[in-house]
Amino acid sequence: MARYKKVLLAVDFHSDNRDIIDRAEQVAKDNGAELLLIHVNEPLAVAYTADGMATWGDELVSLETSIRKESQKKLADLSERLNIKKENAFLREGKPAIEIHDVARENGVDLIVLGTHGQHGIQLILGSTANSVLHGAPCDVLSVRVH
Ligand code: AMP
Repeated sequence: MARYKKVLLAVDFHSDNRDIIDRAEQVAKDNGAELLLIHVNEPLAVAYTADGMATWGDELVSLETSIRKESQKKLADLSERLNIKKENAFLREGKPAIEIHDVARENGVDLIVLGTHGQHGIQLILGSTANSVLHGAPCDVLSVRVH
């Protein structure tokens, strides 16, 4: 059976990621695969000027800057802990599923590992990000059930 060569671990930093991290590390180890890491910051809000250009209020810009700094630190700490090379740790801005797909495609990832936290209806099976990542993923996706 073919082995995974590149495993992309997606972390959101606002929930408990331990089970997802453990699973990604285990799969990477079992397959002798390289581990990559991604976190995506979602823009807080955007307004448009009359000529259609996007614009941000000053308070939002400074809040986004501090969130970005905090995410950079968390990503750097986690990368160090997991022995992930700097160039394999991605901090992106945008919609999580789109950015996760892009990073997977651009880096030849063959497995994405993420969590599912859904609690109601279809979300019991797949959380919204997990659902979006699964649809149109360029590779296999492993969703780890998180309680
Ligand atoms: P959710 O659908 O929001 O419950 O998220 C499910 C899983 O998708 C999380 O456990 C993470 O593995 C991944 N994920 C969600 N949001 C992000 C994000 N902003 N950046 C990276 N991964 C994310």
